[in-house]
Amino acid sequence: MAISDVMGGAAASSPDPEELSHVWSRLQEALQSEIRREQFETWFRRTTLVHADLGTLRIAVHNAFTLDWLNRYYLKPLERAAQAVFGSPRTIEFEVDPEKAAAAPPPRVAPGDPSSTSEEEPIEELTPQPPPSTLPLADTGDCYGLLESSDVTLNKSYLFDNFVVGPCNRFAHAACVGVSESPGRIYNPLFLHGSVGLGKTHLLQSLCHSILQRTPRARILYLSCETFVNHFISSLENGDLETFRNKYRNVDLLVVDDIHVLANKERTQEEFFHTFNTLYNAGRQIVLSSDSPPVEIPTLQERLVSRFKWGLVTEIETPCYETRMAILKRKSRERGREIPDEVAELLAERIDSNIRELEGAVNKVLGYAALTGVAVTCDLVRQCLRDVFHQTKGLPSIEDILKVVTDHFGVKLSDLQSKKRTNAIAFPRQVGMYLARTITRMSLEEIGGYFGGRDHSTVLYAVQKMKRLAAEDPDCQELLTSLTAEIKSGSPT
Ligand code: ADP
Ligand code: MG
Repeated sequence: MAISDVMGGAAASSPDPEELSHVWSRLQEALQSEIRREQFETWFRRTTLVHADLGTLRIAVHNAFTLDWLNRYYLKPLERAAQAVFGSPRTIEFEVDPEKAAAAPPPRVAPGDPSSTSEEEPIEELTPQPPPSTLPLADTGDCYGLLESSDVTLNKSYLFDNFVVGPCNRFAHAACVGVSESPGRIYNPLFLHGSVGLGKTHLLQSLCHSILQRTPRARILYLSCETFVNHFISSLENGDLETFRNKYRNVDLLVVDDIHVLANKERTQEEFFHTFNTLYNAGRQIVLSSDSPPVEIPTLQERLVSRFKWGLVTEIETPCYETRMAILKRKSRERGREIPDEVAELLAERIDSNIRELEGAVNKVLGYAALTGVAVTCDLVRQCLRDVFHQTKGLPSIEDILKVVTDHFGVKLSDLQSKKRTNAIAFPRQVGMYLARTITRMSLEEIGGYFGGRDHSTVLYAVQKMKRLAAEDPDCQELLTSLTAEIKSGSPT
């Protein structure tokens, strides 16, 4: 059945549910070329199309948080998807209707996607539940702070107020704020992932502070995954699993930092699976962080991968230049000193992939300046951070990539940055975006900036397209491999 048939004569009344479901499937397919699979699954899993006519599409979502989010960040992609499917624009509206949204079939996942493999559920059949209608925090216990058995105390400066928000971490930050306002009700579990030093622990602890400020007696257990593993092993040795289980299963909020440590630990995964189920069924909030998305944690059981994706999976990306500048300014101000713009620019240019390193650099430079009484200048920075700068020098720069791409395809840089969309230009441009994404640590926004100010979804589309082409076509794979090798061999060491 063609979309035009479905929509034919439907100006006044909406098609029946079956037709709506068909239209929704087509829109979801179009949407998947616009946004990341992970974000798609997170935000569109519990949505459904409830009305469509020649002017308007109305989508039911399961809570106000999602409505606000979709309105803010996914309106444009949805409008473009509607344009692609219907050939003419539609106004997109959202409504909160948990029942209709919950009745939605699971989102369609692109063929070949690793997460589309069928899931094995040998033990305890359990499905995602609608959030409980009451705040599940027990408000027992006797003081502000984490439960004693936690393996850290909260860092006082890891607060939402001290966290600089930029395009790289906006989703993760908003999700943590949302969960801290309604634990157990919005997204359960909340799964944050991203490389080291990008603010996962800062956000997890901010979330705990925020809950404790609201509900000082909340029972929060905050652990590194390693502690969970060690406790489990020693309770096995001591034959004291009962105490172990009571400890982990009687909490309002379980936070496990660096859950990727579960990789290759089969028995602990098994135990964590049961802990997860008990807490989840009781409406308790679970928050996890990891250096990679659930599906990429080696040997993580499929049923855990599936559970980790029930709530919200969100990535913290490497910060773009502007965010790095904002963080530098904030960190130096926190230390009671402003750093000159040119110094901040130098640091932001040279330290581009790890906020912990950025913070360390500010501390080192300001510390040295305070000790010796010298001014904070670019020379001082170069002197203090010789070793750090030296390490980052080996990575190819975007300029190296642009040079190799323009030479190889015989195109001009100005063409790559132009609006031209002929294949002779568009293909090299997409290859360039792909190489920039895979070789450098630049964010999608930054890469877009080097290709004529294109937005992040255009870069994402190019990267996904090149991955697909490389998988389908050995010649394309060969091209990407040889360009990558050329770029890496030519970069300074
Ligand atoms: P991760 O857990 O991802 O390895 P951390 O949360 O430990 O990273 O962050 C490393 C350091 O960088 C911390 O000191 C943290 O306060 C700081 N940091 C990270 N992201 C931000 C941010 N967006 N704004 C301010 N500080 C940040
Ligand atoms: Mg951490």
